[in-house]
Amino acid sequence: MVIVMKPEATESQLREVISKIEELGYKPHVIYGATRNVIGAVGDERGKFILQSLEVMEGVEAVIPILKPYKLASKEVKKEKTVIPVKDILIGGKEVIIIAGPCAIENEEQIIHTAKTVKSYGAHILRGGAYKPRTSPYSFQGLGEEGLQLLKTAGEIANMPVVTEVVNPVHVDLVSEYVDILQIGTRNAQNFELLKRVGQAKKPVILKRGMSMTIKEWLMSAEYILSEGNMNVILCERGIRTFETATRNTLDLSAVAVLKEETHLPIIVDPSHATGYAKYVGAMACAAVAAGADGLMIEVHPQPEKAFSDGPQSLNFQAFAEVMTKIYQFAKVMNRV
Ligand code: PEP
Ligand code: MN
Repeated sequence: MVIVMKPEATESQLREVISKIEELGYKPHVIYGATRNVIGAVGDERGKFILQSLEVMEGVEAVIPILKPYKLASKEVKKEKTVIPVKDILIGGKEVIIIAGPCAIENEEQIIHTAKTVKSYGAHILRGGAYKPRTSPYSFQGLGEEGLQLLKTAGEIANMPVVTEVVNPVHVDLVSEYVDILQIGTRNAQNFELLKRVGQAKKPVILKRGMSMTIKEWLMSAEYILSEGNMNVILCERGIRTFETATRNTLDLSAVAVLKEETHLPIIVDPSHATGYAKYVGAMACAAVAAGADGLMIEVHPQPEKAFSDGPQSLNFQAFAEVMTKIYQFAKVMNRV
């Protein structure tokens, strides 16, 4: 249920409604709007009609049932776009935000060199994996905490916020100490215990789309994070499994258009994992900007041919510079610079 407060409702009326919602056994999530506040009441679907009684309370304009299975992620609850501040960067604002860096953090020289270089070409946020969820147990699994430390140092040197993937609920606090954004990877997009745990964390979360997930399932995963109280969720389309084999995955750009209708959350696109080939990254990055993406996540490596993971899809520095020039032109046309 969504409880819409009157524009003139007072702070104490809002508080009264919140405690009533809690008394009825539901979890209130207040969304503060420019002209009025709205409360999402989340809980057991079966008895939700009892919330209708809130309609008679002072300051309440309407109690509206939510029609979508996802509530807090839906535009029914919040019409304005969510803008997520990360240090001095705004994700979901006017500018297209570029997240760049290697698939995996390999050593100090690699991550620092990459950080300085991508920053010099206009990237906003540095990425790098310290815990790698690899398909094979024999592949490089990441440097773990040592990698987190290197990523943090590189971010400080280049003056960039940093993001890394978290794969285990037990690691969430540790990873949060080192990074500005937590990433949930495609293989964990329906790991509900992990989603709940990052929902309790204080850091924004990039939630990648599960490679076989529908958009609705993806939004339900976002709902797991939001319903724990973490409202800073960024959705990342990274390609889905289809019958096509010419690319690693199939980039579902229509998801960007659909999500802009369905949710207030920012949406970014990862053309690297979507295509699997460096030569296709530029074209798909520009297409994502044209589709209205709020940002891009791009894998960059000083020597892709020597990368421990995802070398074939990683851009070298020169290719990244060229792609950034192209992206900038598209962003300008879209009025996103
Ligand atoms: C990554 O970003 O390095 C990664 C593993 O991505 P995905 O979960 O989309 O495969
Ligand atoms: Mn990767």
